[in-house]
Amino acid sequence: MEEFDFLVIGSGSGLDVANVAANRGQSVAIVEKGPLGGTCLNRGCIPSKQLLYHADVYETIERADEFHIDAEVEGVEFAEIVREVTEDVGESSDSIRRGLRSSDQHRLFEGEGRFVDDHTIEISGGEDEGSPAQGAGEDDGTRVRAETILIAAGTRPGVPPIDGIEDVDYLTSREALQLETPPDRLTIVGGGYIAAELGHFFGTFGTDVTILGRRPNLLPEADEEVAAAFTELYGERFAVQTGYAATGVHESDSEITVEAMPYEYDDDGESGRVVDGGEALSVTADELLVAAGRVPNTDTLALENTAVETDADGFVETDEYLRTDAEGVWALGDIVGEYLLKHSANHEARAVMRNLFGDEPEPVDYSAMPFAVFGSPEVAGVGATEEALRAEGAEYATNTYRYDETARGKAMHAEGFVKAIIDLEGEILGCHIVGPDASTLIQEVVTAMTAGSGTVRDIRESIHVHPALPEVVQRAFSGQFTRGGDGGHDHHHH
Ligand SMILES: Cc1cc2nc3c(=O)[nH]c(=O)nc-3n(C[C@H](O)[C@H](O)[C@H](O)COP(=O)(O)OP(=O)(O)OC[C@H]3O[C@@H](n4cnc5c(N)ncnc54)[C@H](O)[C@@H]3O)c2cc1C
Repeated sequence: MEEFDFLVIGSGSGLDVANVAANRGQSVAIVEKGPLGGTCLNRGCIPSKQLLYHADVYETIERADEFHIDAEVEGVEFAEIVREVTEDVGESSDSIRRGLRSSDQHRLFEGEGRFVDDHTIEISGGEDEGSPAQGAGEDDGTRVRAETILIAAGTRPGVPPIDGIEDVDYLTSREALQLETPPDRLTIVGGGYIAAELGHFFGTFGTDVTILGRRPNLLPEADEEVAAAFTELYGERFAVQTGYAATGVHESDSEITVEAMPYEYDDDGESGRVVDGGEALSVTADELLVAAGRVPNTDTLALENTAVETDADGFVETDEYLRTDAEGVWALGDIVGEYLLKHSANHEARAVMRNLFGDEPEPVDYSAMPFAVFGSPEVAGVGATEEALRAEGAEYATNTYRYDETARGKAMHAEGFVKAIIDLEGEILGCHIVGPDASTLIQEVVTAMTAGSGTVRDIRESIHVHPALPEVVQRAFSGQFTRGGDGGHDHHHH
């Protein structure tokens, strides 16, 4: 049996750690069952953001008349857009593969890895839809051992238990990113960021989009005020049916009809159910996109043969250093279920490198983990939401500033706002943005929270270019804050 110093399952962010191990002279094995580079490169961040930029360009042209510019889109080579993006990520993935194949330091096993025991992996198959099939299968049945193993096997689209779902042709984000014709009508089940982004993409190119979300708002992870503003703006562009759960689906004459029922959550916002005697809603479209969350790939790993533990949802349990319960076995990225975001996986990869190869192990610091949604409008946030602080009974204060109250925002006819949340000493607790370039604007707040004093002073006292858009962030942190939660003026004291 071949032995290695280091083995990683999954070639997304896990590959970064493998490269560091290789640079330190370790023998390294990489096990990957799909295209090299993982979800972000092949069917996540990279292709989605490349596609979405086309929608943003289109939208800018459509809005030109607001600025007294007569412009019209005369045509869109939609298939060409999609093909170019697909080819681009395919080339990047192939180049990673060639790099690994030609390296003396790495050994690539193409196939599905399964644990035989804590330190032995068996490779099987090697065929995966969409994978470059050359060489696939040659490692089938091979067993390898490694001293250190990193589980970085990610997640895949989850499919909720909707009656009849197995009998219809539905899309997940994976297929939707490669559709070469925009459907006339698209139903999206799910109200999270993937639904929001793909709704924006197809909607801009002419698809009639219906979004069915169980929560009262789209983007339930965002601050409630931001999520509500976003949901309202999306409601002006699309048929947004929030508070509905898809319960059944059937297909006939290449039309897909989804039946949905009103859905309600308990006060804790966690558990919910279909409303008894609620009135059903029925939505018919040409395509159905299921964007209802992600499930961990732990079920492919035969973890029952190891000491690695998983939680109730199947995510790998780790300690704060990202060590699993099996000695010498580590985990990172989507599969640990902390934040299902690429920059979180990268942050965790840096932590694993430090903890594996450094002197002093250090816990992963998740305290200023931002997120962004590249819809229209954009949404971004970092830190605590106001609801979370209220639920904790925390003392905090908020201030909101509108884009159109700044010079640049006004010039852009920008809708949206920045909401700053601080504690009573001025420490930044969170920031939530809906509006143009939110994904960029959030960055200075992250920097202040991570590398600055973490207080309003970092933002207030830094000189901001006038009149650039970050002034809206500066103003949000500079204005008169209002106490919120139980300390609020207009709330009752208990
Ligand atoms: C449509 C979409 C858009 C997204 N947009 C963004 C965004 O804008 N910003 C952002 O931060 N994040 C985004 N994400 C999330 C981001 O893609 C993930 O958080 C990130 O890719 C996780 O990296 P990872 O290394 O944990 O896992 P992955 O990149 O998923 O890598 C896991 C790899 O393991 C392989 N694998 C799984 N099981 C096995 C096995 N048993 N044997 C061998 N190999 C196996 C898989 O084939 C995969 O290649 C998006 C995701 C999607 C789906």
